[in-house]
Amino acid sequence: MSPGPEILIFSDLDGTLLDHETYQWRAAEPALARLRTMNAGLVLATSKTAAEVAPLRAEIGFSTWPAIVENGGGLLEPGNQPTQDTSIYQEIRAALRDLPQGFRGFGDMTNDEISALTGLSPQSAEHAKARQFSEPGLWIGAEADFQRFTDAAREAGLFVQRGGRFTALSFGETKADRVVDLIKRYRPKHSIALGDAPNDAEMLQWADIGIIVANRAGPDVPRLPGEDSGRIRRTEREGPDGWSDAVSEILDEFSTKREPTFHG
Ligand SMILES: [Mg+2]
Repeated sequence: MSPGPEILIFSDLDGTLLDHETYQWRAAEPALARLRTMNAGLVLATSKTAAEVAPLRAEIGFSTWPAIVENGGGLLEPGNQPTQDTSIYQEIRAALRDLPQGFRGFGDMTNDEISALTGLSPQSAEHAKARQFSEPGLWIGAEADFQRFTDAAREAGLFVQRGGRFTALSFGETKADRVVDLIKRYRPKHSIALGDAPNDAEMLQWADIGIIVANRAGPDVPRLPGEDSGRIRRTEREGPDGWSDAVSEILDEFSTKREPTFHG
C-alpha cells in the first residue's frame, strides 16, 4: 500500500472555510495554494448535500478528495459527479410516513419554499433539496407533541437532531465518524481538523491538531481538552482569514522539520 499523504485536512464550511455572511472562501487562498503545491488532502465536512458541495469542491481545487456531506450522513467520493443513489433518503422518508404528524421535511416542500426559508437562490435550493442521507425540515406540530415524535422516530431507528431552525432526521452517523473512517482509509502522517461551532468539537478531537475558527456571530465553542497543550488551538481572525492563518502556521511548523509546537 502506498504511503498516505503528508497532511490531511478536514474542514467545516459555513463560518469556517466560508465566511459566515458572504459564503466566500478566497481569503483562505494563501494556505490553500500551499496545500495544493504539496499535494495535501482537503476533505470538506458539512451539512450541505453532495449536489451543493461538488461544484464548490471543484472550485477550491480538491475534487480528488472525498467530502463529508449531510453532517456525516454520507460521503461525496472523489470526482465531480455526485452519485444519484437516494436509497438511504428514501428509507428515511418511508419511516417518516409512520411517525406522528408535525414534521414538514424538505421532501414535502417546493424549491420556492426552501428558497424563502433559507435565503438560497432557487437553483441552490434545488441542490439543497437533492438529499441522499438526511432529511431536514420544520417542526410545525404542537411543541408538546415533539417528544412523542422523537420517541417514535428513535424506535424506527432514526436520529432526530434539533438545530436553531431546522430539525434533521438521519441514521445518526456524524462528521466525526466519517473523519475516523477517512483517517483509516488514507493514513496521513498528520491530520488537522477545523470548525467553528460546538457541533464540530467531536471532529476536532479525532485529528492530530484541531482548530477552532473564531465566529463571533455563532455560539461559543466550550473550552476543549487539548487547548492547554496546544493540540487544540483558536484563531484570532474569523472565517477563511482565520483558516488561512492557522493552516499556514502549522505548515510553517512542519516545514522547519520539527513537530508542531505543543505549548506545555
Ligand atoms: Mg460551521
